[in-house]
Amino acid sequence: MNLPTAMQPEPDAGLPVEVLNDGFRWMRFSGGLEQRFLADGAARRLRYVTISGALSLLVFLGFLPVDWLMAGDVFPMALTLRLGVFTPVAVLLLLIPFLARDWVLRHIPPLVIEAIVLISGVCAAACLAFILSSSQSPTRQYYHVGLMVVVMYGNMVQRLRFWYAVAFSLAVYAIHLGAMLMVPAHDERLVLPLAALLAASVIFTLAANWALERDERRRYLLSLRRRALLDELGSVNRQLQALARVDALTGLYNRRHFEEYLEQAWQRARRGGTALAVLMLDVDHFKAYNDRYGHPEGDRCLAAVAAAVSACLRRPGDLVARYGGEEMVAVLPLAGAEEALQAAERIRRAVEALQIPHAGSAASRVVTICVGVASVRADGLAAATDLVELADAALYRAKQAGRNRVAGGGFDATPPG
Ligand code: GH3
Ligand code: MG
Ligand code: MG
Repeated sequence: MNLPTAMQPEPDAGLPVEVLNDGFRWMRFSGGLEQRFLADGAARRLRYVTISGALSLLVFLGFLPVDWLMAGDVFPMALTLRLGVFTPVAVLLLLIPFLARDWVLRHIPPLVIEAIVLISGVCAAACLAFILSSSQSPTRQYYHVGLMVVVMYGNMVQRLRFWYAVAFSLAVYAIHLGAMLMVPAHDERLVLPLAALLAASVIFTLAANWALERDERRRYLLSLRRRALLDELGSVNRQLQALARVDALTGLYNRRHFEEYLEQAWQRARRGGTALAVLMLDVDHFKAYNDRYGHPEGDRCLAAVAAAVSACLRRPGDLVARYGGEEMVAVLPLAGAEEALQAAERIRRAVEALQIPHAGSAASRVVTICVGVASVRADGLAAATDLVELADAALYRAKQAGRNRVAGGGFDATPPG
């Protein structure tokens, strides 16, 4: 029999549960999960870095008064650097994802976007270092504090992926040390405190960055597990639904499914004004078979008969079901009386051809069946169940006529010999 598609095993759409349970070490998922994580989060991440990048640019420009106050002697240069060089490049970088978001997502890998954010922060730090190293102002040394803001930008505001944040922090710290070494300190006592302040900022913001990314990755794992569980639940549910329609012994559909199917076929036939046939099958002298060969052998016999019957009905739309006990039923959409009788005769012969010995049968030396056939145009009857009753009545007549035969509404088709 053709099982409903829900019974077929599903292709594995998700990831193996071990990968999901494996979690992550060193802030990286194992296997292909890392790529999937980056890809799944790419659109959200791009939106995030664009918006917070735009806000950070405003903050960056907001430091112009600070340039004026702390490095007034090089203010025109600071103005050119911030407004004339950094800003146009930053605006361009921000406009590209704003105007061509889909293109960026398709063509720029997520980690390249991280690298661009990283480089933008390093450039901001280099701007500060350049301004402070060009100035002769006595307050220029305090300008190093500005690097703390840059560290916060990369590690906390843009929330670079952790290892990028580490690289970014080291680069900013190297710029800090470089500027310290190259530009003579105005006040030697400030060197260590400033270096310590920046180091503390790096450590704390990296710790926060770690915690934020760890939580993001955990949330991602949970969402994947939930999705995998829901998929599994859905597939198990579909399998259960299908199993609830199948008879365990014969593998045929059960009576419940037959009744629903018949009703649907009936409605379709009514709408289309087409024919519909029902065959009712019953094993001859099956009680005697059980008595003689035992119930387990009776079960095997029933399964063999069921397989033979369904092998005879392979047209799309044909359905065979176990009606109860040793009775089976078939629905043949579009089959007129002649066609249904032929199908019934084919089935009867197929069962006979199994040549299952039945010494207790008065009808034959082998297991045989009777088939009652009813075929009507659906608009000729009041209900689908009328058709079943007609087939049942025909089956009764076949039994009365001596068994191992087919009977249809108003006529009998007696098998040879
Ligand atoms: P008839 O030719 O008039 O149909 O005679 P019959 O003996 O087949 O009719 P009856 O309805 O009296 O007996 C049906 C028997 O089918 C009785 C029951 O033991 C047997 N039967 C019903 N379901 C099963 C089953 O699942 N397994 C087995 N082994 N036997 C079953
Ligand atoms: Mg019976
Ligand atoms: Mg019987």
